[in-house]
Amino acid sequence: MATPITIDAIETFILDVPTIRPHVLSVATMQSQAMVIVRLICSDGIEGIGEGTTIGGLSYGAESPESIQLTIDRYAAPILKGSDPTRPALIMAALRKQIAANHFAKNAIETALLDAQGKRLGVPVSELLGGRLRDRLPVLWTLASGDTGRDIEEAEAMLASRRHNAFKLKIGKRPLEDDVAHVAAIKRALGDRASVRVDVNQAWGEATAKRGLALLADAGVDLVEQPIKASQLAGMARLTAMGKLAVMADEALYGPDTAFAYASASAADVFAVKIAQAGGLGPAKALAGIAEAAGVALYGGTMLEGGVGTVASAQLFATFNDLAFGTELFGPLLLTEEVLAQPLDYSDYSLAVPTGPGLGIALNPDAVAALRRDRATPTTVIFPKQANG
Ligand SMILES: [Mg+2]
Repeated sequence: MATPITIDAIETFILDVPTIRPHVLSVATMQSQAMVIVRLICSDGIEGIGEGTTIGGLSYGAESPESIQLTIDRYAAPILKGSDPTRPALIMAALRKQIAANHFAKNAIETALLDAQGKRLGVPVSELLGGRLRDRLPVLWTLASGDTGRDIEEAEAMLASRRHNAFKLKIGKRPLEDDVAHVAAIKRALGDRASVRVDVNQAWGEATAKRGLALLADAGVDLVEQPIKASQLAGMARLTAMGKLAVMADEALYGPDTAFAYASASAADVFAVKIAQAGGLGPAKALAGIAEAAGVALYGGTMLEGGVGTVASAQLFATFNDLAFGTELFGPLLLTEEVLAQPLDYSDYSLAVPTGPGLGIALNPDAVAALRRDRATPTTVIFPKQANG
């Protein structure tokens, strides 16, 4: 009988990477990004990597980088320990049964399991998820300096280098009239050369949103993302029914259940799919299936992950039948340091989905050593082999 393959060791660490400029959202201003990296080391010598990243500490959602790491170390590791990594779905079922919520942590683990299994079978993660339909994904850029002139300059540079021709503006922090003036000036400057969308990150009340949608439609904006609180499903449905502007749900979507509720209530024209928010690649794929069945358009979202989480997302989005609104998988471009051994290919307004086994990427060990938060005293959780058997 062949020796059973087991997960022998798990390591988590946080990388702190400065951003290239302040990234201004209605909920936070980011100067750096903290990403939790999880490494699963298997007895067949194969290693899987995953990433758990959120936006602005605890300002975006219920999980922080520190809580993601703690959840994995304290609660997921004992379940992973000694288990069979050639059965990722079985492991994820056990995790989902024993750990409630904690979607970002679960996604980091599922990513690492699928990376390892893809490497083991010699296929990209996309092929474990049903198979890719495309090798490149359109990628927009977020203009979030908060300064109109600087944002226009940034957009012009992106158009000139053919890196991006769709732009998302983060609004909702300032009075509506100021935000609209900012957005309209940028759309005027870029004209038909670019698509301009806005993300309010839940900052408006419904009355403001009604006025905002009308004004933004007149300014030539193509899409508004999560204008009001995610919990206000009826309000989202009323804004969608206005028909002024395509309305996207983002913060509302914590997996297939919430997607079903939103689709049933006609509470959005577009769904942002985020693997972390959905609780992993499997649930994110199920969420996309609900959108497709309901006639809701798809958009590939990001938690501003670094290279690992970005590629995990790309591997899934490459399997979607239709990605009408493209993706925002630009996370690595917002960071000053490259954490991957080989930078990703961003060109022709798109990202190339890696074709190698697993995620098709590797970490740059020097960058990891320099950026990890515990670099002075690295801690690795290593399980003795057969410790539980
Ligand atoms: Mg958003």
